[in-house]
Amino acid sequence: MIENIPTHDDFYKTGRELLDLSWGMIAKLLVNLDDAEYYGIDPEEVSEEYWSLAHRQLTTSLAITQQGIEFLIKGRICEISPYLLITDSPTKWPSPHEGIPIDFSKFRTIDAQDLIRVHDTFAAVNFDSEFVNKFNELRESRNVIMHSISASLDVQVGEVIDSLLYMHNSLFPDESWAKVRKQALESSPNSELGSVDFLSNEVNRELSIIVNLLSPSKVKNYFKIDKKMRAYFCPDCYYEANHDVDFDYKLARLMSKEESCEEIYCPICDLDYEVSREKCSNEEEECPGNVISDVYGICLTCGQH
Ligand SMILES: [Zn+2]
Ligand SMILES: [Zn+2]
Repeated sequence: MIENIPTHDDFYKTGRELLDLSWGMIAKLLVNLDDAEYYGIDPEEVSEEYWSLAHRQLTTSLAITQQGIEFLIKGRICEISPYLLITDSPTKWPSPHEGIPIDFSKFRTIDAQDLIRVHDTFAAVNFDSEFVNKFNELRESRNVIMHSISASLDVQVGEVIDSLLYMHNSLFPDESWAKVRKQALESSPNSELGSVDFLSNEVNRELSIIVNLLSPSKVKNYFKIDKKMRAYFCPDCYYEANHDVDFDYKLARLMSKEESCEEIYCPICDLDYEVSREKCSNEEEECPGNVISDVYGICLTCGQH
């Protein structure tokens, strides 16, 4: 008998935690660079040197991303049967004759290089070839990172972000990464130190920076918003934000280009909100806005009541 058999949820939870750790490292680098501008430093001027000094952080976060993806794929295999994760021939298994149940962790489990093969053998639908190629590329990069101290592997920040988002999106097409990130921040150790007050600010800020970096088609794919359409405040994100500091992050987009469209989507909340198409009453600033939140009554262009 075997005890402590892992479930697919255990693997998914750990996989997402690792992706979040990787994302957090990258977001911090980007936010710090963005902060530099505030202190009068031209980000363009420091950029190259900055990213070369960040080499170790970039490679580490790529390696953690790969580790996270491996857990997620193990979760997929586990959905079929956790026993498929056990490798080695039965003669090498721990003895079942000791009179006590065998802990699952005592078994050797399959290597990263065999994950796709095992999954595709038993799953109803194979992983598509693009996913498999990306997974193998990532695995090779990780091996270079973990087994050499040379700086030969040139890892770009955009590459780490794109790998992570692509993999997450392929495995969980119905899940909003931005929402997963917000939930992870809510339960991070920093939330015990009061960071929750600025949670909406933080998650909106990092996502705004990253949306700026990505191409419109990738933004559409990963965050389900059209970057080229006019941007608005999300009613809930704006309401939850701490306004002791400036909050000017607009990530929400109307659901269609129709003038009569009365729904707005926020990728962080992963929700549609109802809006009224009325002219903003903020005359002081001559706000051109005509998208008003039904729940809070605020103009989603200028934030005024
Ligand atoms: Zn929102
Ligand atoms: Zn307004």
